[in-house]
Amino acid sequence: MRIIMLGPPGAGKGTQARKIAEEFHIPQISTGDIFRRAVEENTAMGKKAKEYMDSGMLVPDDIVVGIVEERLNKPDADAGFVLDGFPRTLYQAERLEQILEKKGVHIDAVINILVQRETVIERFTGRRVCQVCGASYHIKYNPPKKPGVCDACGNKLITRHDDELETVKKRLEEYEQKTSPLIEFYKSRHLLIDIDGNKPIDEVNKSIVDVLRGETK
Ligand code: ADP
Ligand code: ADP
Ligand code: ZN
Repeated sequence: MRIIMLGPPGAGKGTQARKIAEEFHIPQISTGDIFRRAVEENTAMGKKAKEYMDSGMLVPDDIVVGIVEERLNKPDADAGFVLDGFPRTLYQAERLEQILEKKGVHIDAVINILVQRETVIERFTGRRVCQVCGASYHIKYNPPKKPGVCDACGNKLITRHDDELETVKKRLEEYEQKTSPLIEFYKSRHLLIDIDGNKPIDEVNKSIVDVLRGETK
Protein backbone atom coordinates (compact mmCIF):
# COMPACT_ATOMS: atom_id res chain seq x y z
CA MET A 1 0.00 0.00 0.00
CA ARG A 2 1.24 3.49 -0.89
CA ILE A 3 -0.12 6.26 1.24
CA ILE A 4 0.37 10.00 1.64
CA MET A 5 -0.42 11.85 4.87
CA LEU A 6 -1.70 15.37 4.32
CA GLY A 7 -2.71 18.05 6.81
CA PRO A 8 -1.37 21.16 8.51
CA PRO A 9 1.64 21.01 10.81
CA GLY A 10 0.58 19.54 14.15
CA ALA A 11 -2.44 17.70 12.72
CA GLY A 12 -1.10 14.32 13.80
CA LYS A 13 0.41 13.10 10.52
CA GLY A 14 3.53 11.69 12.13
CA THR A 15 1.63 10.03 14.95
CA GLN A 16 -0.79 8.35 12.54
CA ALA A 17 1.86 7.51 9.95
CA ARG A 18 3.79 5.58 12.56
CA LYS A 19 0.73 3.54 13.46
CA ILE A 20 -0.17 2.89 9.82
CA ALA A 21 3.40 1.76 9.14
CA GLU A 22 3.14 -0.80 11.93
CA GLU A 23 -0.34 -1.93 10.99
CA PHE A 24 0.45 -2.49 7.31
CA HIS A 25 4.13 -3.44 7.67
CA ILE A 26 5.42 -0.68 5.45
CA PRO A 27 8.10 1.94 6.12
CA GLN A 28 7.17 5.42 7.32
CA ILE A 29 9.02 7.99 5.27
CA SER A 30 9.08 11.33 7.06
CA THR A 31 10.95 14.15 5.34
CA GLY A 32 10.92 16.15 8.60
CA ASP A 33 12.67 13.27 10.40
CA ILE A 34 15.18 12.87 7.58
CA PHE A 35 16.01 16.58 7.75
CA ARG A 36 16.24 16.61 11.55
CA ARG A 37 18.65 13.72 11.45
CA ALA A 38 20.77 15.46 8.80
CA VAL A 39 20.83 18.63 10.93
CA GLU A 40 21.85 16.59 13.96
CA GLU A 41 24.64 14.93 11.98
CA ASN A 42 25.63 18.31 10.56
CA THR A 43 25.80 17.08 6.96
CA ALA A 44 25.95 19.52 4.05
CA MET A 45 22.28 18.90 3.30
CA GLY A 46 21.42 19.33 6.98
CA LYS A 47 23.17 22.69 7.11
CA LYS A 48 21.17 23.91 4.14
CA ALA A 49 17.86 22.57 5.45
CA LYS A 50 18.37 24.01 8.93
CA GLU A 51 18.16 27.63 7.80
CA TYR A 52 14.72 27.04 6.38
CA MET A 53 13.44 24.80 9.14
CA ASP A 54 14.45 27.24 11.86
CA SER A 55 12.50 30.04 10.23
CA GLY A 56 9.44 27.86 9.59
CA MET A 57 9.85 27.86 5.84
CA LEU A 58 9.71 24.96 3.46
CA VAL A 59 13.04 23.58 2.32
CA PRO A 60 13.51 24.17 -1.45
CA ASP A 61 11.85 21.58 -3.68
CA ASP A 62 14.98 20.35 -5.45
CA ILE A 63 16.62 19.36 -2.17
CA VAL A 64 13.50 17.57 -0.91
CA VAL A 65 12.67 15.69 -4.10
CA GLY A 66 16.18 14.29 -4.45
CA ILE A 67 16.08 12.95 -0.91
CA VAL A 68 12.69 11.34 -1.32
CA GLU A 69 13.60 9.75 -4.63
CA GLU A 70 16.69 8.24 -3.06
CA ARG A 71 14.64 6.92 -0.14
CA LEU A 72 11.96 5.43 -2.40
CA ASN A 73 14.64 3.55 -4.29
CA LYS A 74 15.60 1.56 -1.20
CA PRO A 75 14.31 -2.02 -1.37
CA ASP A 76 12.07 -1.76 1.72
CA ALA A 77 9.90 0.78 -0.11
CA ASP A 78 9.03 -1.78 -2.80
CA ALA A 79 6.39 -3.25 -0.52
CA GLY A 80 4.73 0.15 -0.09
CA PHE A 81 5.23 3.15 2.19
CA VAL A 82 3.52 5.90 4.09
CA LEU A 83 4.80 9.34 3.21
CA ASP A 84 4.61 11.77 6.10
CA GLY A 85 5.31 15.42 5.35
CA PHE A 86 5.81 14.91 1.62
CA PRO A 87 4.68 16.18 -0.86
CA ARG A 88 4.17 19.71 0.43
CA THR A 89 4.04 21.67 -2.84
CA LEU A 90 2.39 21.04 -6.20
CA TYR A 91 5.81 20.69 -7.74
CA GLN A 92 6.72 17.96 -5.25
CA ALA A 93 3.45 16.17 -5.96
CA GLU A 94 4.07 16.24 -9.69
CA ARG A 95 7.61 15.00 -9.29
CA LEU A 96 6.39 12.21 -7.03
CA GLU A 97 3.98 11.10 -9.75
CA GLN A 98 6.86 10.94 -12.22
CA ILE A 99 9.05 8.98 -9.82
CA LEU A 100 6.32 6.43 -9.15
CA GLU A 101 5.37 6.22 -12.81
CA LYS A 102 8.93 5.23 -13.62
CA LYS A 103 8.57 2.41 -11.12
CA GLY A 104 5.18 1.41 -12.52
CA VAL A 105 3.35 2.01 -9.23
CA HIS A 106 0.90 4.60 -7.92
CA ILE A 107 -0.47 6.15 -4.73
CA ASP A 108 -3.46 4.28 -3.26
CA ALA A 109 -4.78 6.91 -0.87
CA VAL A 110 -4.13 10.39 0.47
CA ILE A 111 -5.20 10.75 4.09
CA ASN A 112 -6.16 14.36 4.72
CA ILE A 113 -6.29 15.03 8.46
CA LEU A 114 -8.65 17.88 9.29
CA VAL A 115 -8.14 19.81 12.52
CA GLN A 116 -9.21 23.12 13.97
CA ARG A 117 -6.60 25.81 14.31
CA GLU A 118 -6.90 25.98 18.11
CA THR A 119 -6.37 22.23 18.29
CA VAL A 120 -3.19 22.52 16.28
CA ILE A 121 -1.72 25.23 18.51
CA GLU A 122 -2.38 23.17 21.62
CA ARG A 123 -0.73 20.16 20.02
CA PHE A 124 2.43 22.08 19.24
CA THR A 125 2.88 23.44 22.72
CA GLY A 126 2.79 19.96 24.25
CA ARG A 127 4.75 18.12 21.57
CA ARG A 128 7.92 16.30 22.58
CA VAL A 129 9.88 14.27 20.05
CA CYS A 130 12.58 11.64 20.01
CA GLN A 131 15.39 12.77 17.76
CA VAL A 132 16.69 9.26 17.42
CA CYS A 133 13.65 7.31 16.19
CA GLY A 134 11.27 10.16 15.31
CA ALA A 135 8.51 9.14 17.75
CA SER A 136 6.29 12.03 18.75
CA TYR A 137 4.58 12.44 22.13
CA HIS A 138 2.33 14.97 23.81
CA ILE A 139 2.71 15.86 27.47
CA LYS A 140 -1.06 15.73 27.95
CA TYR A 141 -2.57 13.64 25.15
CA ASN A 142 0.10 11.05 24.55
CA PRO A 143 2.64 11.11 27.38
CA PRO A 144 5.59 8.71 27.39
CA LYS A 145 5.59 6.09 30.15
CA LYS A 146 8.57 7.76 31.76
CA PRO A 147 8.66 11.57 31.46
CA GLY A 148 11.25 12.81 28.99
CA VAL A 149 12.17 9.33 27.74
CA CYS A 150 11.16 7.68 24.45
CA ASP A 151 9.04 4.52 24.96
CA ALA A 152 10.25 3.09 21.67
CA CYS A 153 14.01 3.49 22.00
CA GLY A 154 14.80 4.89 25.44
CA ASN A 155 16.42 8.09 24.20
CA LYS A 156 15.83 11.58 25.52
CA LEU A 157 12.79 13.56 24.35
CA ILE A 158 13.19 17.15 23.25
CA THR A 159 11.00 20.12 22.37
CA ARG A 160 11.50 21.02 18.71
CA HIS A 161 12.58 24.62 18.56
CA ASP A 162 10.49 25.24 15.47
CA ASP A 163 7.49 24.48 17.71
CA GLU A 164 7.74 27.88 19.33
CA LEU A 165 4.72 30.08 18.56
CA GLU A 166 6.28 32.55 16.10
CA THR A 167 7.75 29.77 13.96
CA VAL A 168 4.53 27.79 14.16
CA LYS A 169 2.64 30.76 12.70
CA LYS A 170 5.05 30.88 9.76
CA ARG A 171 4.71 27.13 9.23
CA LEU A 172 0.93 27.39 9.19
CA GLU A 173 1.19 30.20 6.62
CA GLU A 174 3.47 28.08 4.46
CA TYR A 175 0.94 25.28 4.71
CA GLU A 176 -1.95 27.52 3.61
CA GLN A 177 -0.04 28.98 0.69
CA LYS A 178 1.95 26.08 -0.64
CA THR A 179 0.54 22.82 0.68
CA SER A 180 -3.21 23.28 0.88
CA PRO A 181 -3.53 23.35 -2.97
CA LEU A 182 -2.65 19.65 -2.80
CA ILE A 183 -6.12 18.98 -1.43
CA GLU A 184 -7.66 19.88 -4.81
CA PHE A 185 -4.85 18.14 -6.67
CA TYR A 186 -5.54 14.79 -4.98
CA LYS A 187 -9.30 15.29 -4.98
CA SER A 188 -9.16 15.57 -8.76
CA ARG A 189 -7.29 12.26 -8.82
CA HIS A 190 -9.96 10.67 -6.61
CA LEU A 191 -7.41 9.79 -3.97
CA LEU A 192 -8.37 12.17 -1.16
CA ILE A 193 -9.82 10.77 2.04
CA ASP A 194 -10.87 13.32 4.67
CA ILE A 195 -10.38 12.23 8.27
CA ASP A 196 -11.61 14.10 11.33
CA GLY A 197 -8.41 14.65 13.30
CA ASN A 198 -9.99 16.43 16.28
CA LYS A 199 -10.65 13.15 18.09
CA PRO A 200 -8.30 11.18 20.35
CA ILE A 201 -5.35 9.45 18.69
CA ASP A 202 -6.80 5.93 18.77
CA GLU A 203 -10.13 7.03 17.35
CA VAL A 204 -8.45 8.87 14.51
CA ASN A 205 -6.36 5.79 13.88
CA LYS A 206 -9.40 3.55 13.75
CA SER A 207 -11.09 5.79 11.16
CA ILE A 208 -7.99 5.68 9.00
CA VAL A 209 -7.42 1.94 9.26
CA ASP A 210 -11.09 1.28 8.52
CA VAL A 211 -11.05 3.26 5.29
CA LEU A 212 -7.71 1.84 4.21
CA ARG A 213 -8.94 -1.71 4.75
CA GLY A 214 -11.99 -0.85 2.67
CA GLU A 215 -9.87 0.77 -0.02
CA THR A 216 -7.42 -2.02 -0.61
CA LYS A 217 -8.29 -5.66 -0.29
P1 ADP B 1 5.33 18.95 10.95
O1 ADP B 1 5.22 17.45 11.17
O2 ADP B 1 5.13 19.70 12.22
O3 ADP B 1 4.48 19.44 9.85
P2 ADP B 1 7.79 18.27 9.72
O4 ADP B 1 8.58 17.51 10.71
O5 ADP B 1 7.06 17.53 8.69
O6 ADP B 1 6.81 19.22 10.53
O7 ADP B 1 8.71 19.33 9.00
C1 ADP B 1 9.59 20.19 9.70
C2 ADP B 1 10.24 21.15 8.72
O8 ADP B 1 11.02 20.40 7.77
C3 ADP B 1 9.29 21.97 7.89
O9 ADP B 1 8.86 23.15 8.55
C4 ADP B 1 10.15 22.27 6.65
O10 ADP B 1 11.09 23.30 6.92
C5 ADP B 1 10.93 20.98 6.47
N1 ADP B 1 10.22 20.03 5.58
C6 ADP B 1 9.77 18.79 5.91
N2 ADP B 1 9.21 18.18 4.85
C7 ADP B 1 9.30 19.07 3.81
C8 ADP B 1 8.89 19.06 2.45
N3 ADP B 1 8.26 17.99 1.91
N4 ADP B 1 9.15 20.15 1.69
C9 ADP B 1 9.78 21.22 2.20
N5 ADP B 1 10.19 21.31 3.47
C10 ADP B 1 9.96 20.24 4.29
P1 ADP C 1 2.37 16.36 12.55
O1 ADP C 1 3.28 15.24 12.12
O2 ADP C 1 1.15 16.48 11.69
O3 ADP C 1 3.07 17.67 12.70
P2 ADP C 1 2.31 15.00 15.16
O4 ADP C 1 1.91 13.61 14.82
O5 ADP C 1 3.72 15.24 15.54
O6 ADP C 1 1.82 16.01 14.00
O7 ADP C 1 1.36 15.49 16.34
C1 ADP C 1 1.48 16.80 16.90
C2 ADP C 1 1.32 16.72 18.42
O8 ADP C 1 -0.05 16.40 18.75
C3 ADP C 1 2.15 15.64 19.10
O9 ADP C 1 2.50 16.11 20.37
C4 ADP C 1 1.18 14.44 19.20
O10 ADP C 1 1.49 13.60 20.30
C5 ADP C 1 -0.15 15.14 19.41
N1 ADP C 1 -1.30 14.46 18.79
C6 ADP C 1 -1.34 13.82 17.59
N2 ADP C 1 -2.57 13.36 17.31
C7 ADP C 1 -3.35 13.73 18.36
C8 ADP C 1 -4.75 13.55 18.70
N3 ADP C 1 -5.57 12.89 17.85
N4 ADP C 1 -5.18 14.05 19.86
C9 ADP C 1 -4.36 14.71 20.71
N5 ADP C 1 -3.04 14.92 20.47
C10 ADP C 1 -2.55 14.43 19.31
ZN1 ZN D 1 12.84 7.05 20.19
